[in-house]
Amino acid sequence: MKTAPPGEPIGTPHDGLVPRLHGLHAVVFDTDGVITDSARVHAAAWKPAFDAALRAHPPADPALRGPFDPVEDYRRLVDGKPRIDGAADFLAARGLTLPPGTPADPAGTDTVWAVAAAKEAAFTAHLDEHGVEAYPGTVHLLDRLRRADVPCAAVSASRHARQLLRRAGVRDYFACLVDGADSARLDLKGKPAPDLFLEAARRLQTEPSAAAVVEDALAGVEAGRRGGFDLVVGVDRTGTRESAADLRRHGADLVVRDLAELLDP
Ligand SMILES: [Mg+2]
Repeated sequence: MKTAPPGEPIGTPHDGLVPRLHGLHAVVFDTDGVITDSARVHAAAWKPAFDAALRAHPPADPALRGPFDPVEDYRRLVDGKPRIDGAADFLAARGLTLPPGTPADPAGTDTVWAVAAAKEAAFTAHLDEHGVEAYPGTVHLLDRLRRADVPCAAVSASRHARQLLRRAGVRDYFACLVDGADSARLDLKGKPAPDLFLEAARRLQTEPSAAAVVEDALAGVEAGRRGGFDLVVGVDRTGTRESAADLRRHGADLVVRDLAELLDP
């Protein structure tokens, strides 16, 4: 891994990167939905877990009884957060006050941890069956950054991140990985707290003010902003009417649909 001495950025205008990336010392990537196409797998895995909880405990307000929307509900309430926080925030938004339970709870509908466990089981089953792929635009950007000797980190709230990166064949692009296991071990707060990104910057031996964060979740761009990163790139894969504006409002300096937009042809 090459790191730049202070005041000597590695990127140059000839690296095939858009000008906004020139001068950065490092880039920190979120994993699900930015590097790998696994955000939609997470969203799909939440659906049976949340819908079963809604059926078992119908909200008092009929307006809150609709099924989990894997696009909008996932984007606004769940994406990017630690699993238990995403479960708690969606259930609270539907007026459900389940007891928290414990991480040992089996999959079910009677505690927040049980709902989270049901999602985990569905996610793991899908991954085993279908695998996961890296977005080609992200791989192109990682190639350019590697040629420019800009070190990169991968960050994820998930304990599956290492496995996802390996299965997608992109683990070697990253000088370090900060994942859910690190988060628990080091007692790092989940997004929107900036802890995971700051830990990644520390491991890359760079100041956040000389690095970029690339994120697709509202909680994630907010974490990048709170961490004081020089550039926060929001990745909007959904293309829904509000999504790009929401990413900007939560802290994205610029929003792209795909990371190939950061290449200078
Ligand atoms: Mg993500």
